[in-house]
Amino acid sequence: MELESILLPGVNPERPFLIAGPCSAETEEQVMTTARSLAADGVKIMRAGIWKPRTKPGGFEGVGSEGLQWLKKVKKETGMYVSTEVATQKHVYEALKYGVDLLWIGARTTANPFAVQEIAEALEGVDIPVLVKNPVNPDLELWIGALERLSKVGLKRLGAIHRGFSSYDKKIYRNLPQWHIPIELKRRYPNLPIICDPSHIGGRRDLIQPLSQQAMDLGFEGLIIETHCDPDCAWSDASQQVTPSRLKEILSALVIRDAKQTTEDLSELRSQIDEIDDQLLEIFAKRMRISQEIGTFKKEHDMTIVQTDRYDEILAKRISQAEGMGMNPEFMRVVLEAIHDESVRKQIDILSK
Ligand code: PEP
Ligand code: MN
Repeated sequence: MELESILLPGVNPERPFLIAGPCSAETEEQVMTTARSLAADGVKIMRAGIWKPRTKPGGFEGVGSEGLQWLKKVKKETGMYVSTEVATQKHVYEALKYGVDLLWIGARTTANPFAVQEIAEALEGVDIPVLVKNPVNPDLELWIGALERLSKVGLKRLGAIHRGFSSYDKKIYRNLPQWHIPIELKRRYPNLPIICDPSHIGGRRDLIQPLSQQAMDLGFEGLIIETHCDPDCAWSDASQQVTPSRLKEILSALVIRDAKQTTEDLSELRSQIDEIDDQLLEIFAKRMRISQEIGTFKKEHDMTIVQTDRYDEILAKRISQAEGMGMNPEFMRVVLEAIHDESVRKQIDILSK
């Protein structure tokens, strides 16, 4: 894909399209020191948050417009493009006034159609690349809706940023990747560049490398990686920022597989998959017919639909069977629950007739 023409001219057209820079602009010195290292390593687009959406009041809410002067200086001195997050019309006007080259809409903002609409209206008639982060909640339509609002005011250079999805229960990731959501976005809009944000997905420095590799393996176009000259002292997101030299290592360790490669050599394996999927469909249909018969029997004998003992037994048995066959038990649980939900739905239909 010609990313160059889609987003910004002069940026290396090879994957990954890279944006790097601190979570937040903090001081002129921090911005310039980071920028000089990044530029020396060949980075073409710098990021820095100027206005920071914080979960609770009282945290560091960004330096505000003052920081835009530092970004202007970065452009002048290093020739890099600069980018920042906008969440209101005022942010848009300020960023444009200072010559910011690329804007992104943050995850909390994408979740709010009123805010996105306002931003879109402020950008009407402006030719600037805009990247839309996924909303904090795993809602693909809301993500697409935000992109549509921007497209409707005439913006042509659009892209998406996958930054993971909030969950109450934080285990490994700060935000769950839920890769199937950006993958579905790519399936529906094959020409829309997708940039992965491993910093906000992982929330931890050591996860940036593996997440970046995964994003490249999935064929995503780019990466946005939080990079700071002194990450431990960062005013926001300290634990997930890396130094410019670590960024360089991460990037050089990436294996970039050819996303455009022809898939002829895969055709044999793919036809086997097609055949197995056909068999799976047949088996699902057969299983559903049997549940339907069970439903009819339950109706005739005035029985309730869900017998939890039976369901527990099926789940436990099948999951351990699956594990014995080398499959992920969690995957099997999801499949079995989906099958069970559908059987119950069918039986409810029968009983209510
Ligand atoms: C950010 O990029 O620093 C940021 C606030 O990200 P998100 O909107 O993904 O939380
Ligand atoms: Mn951040």
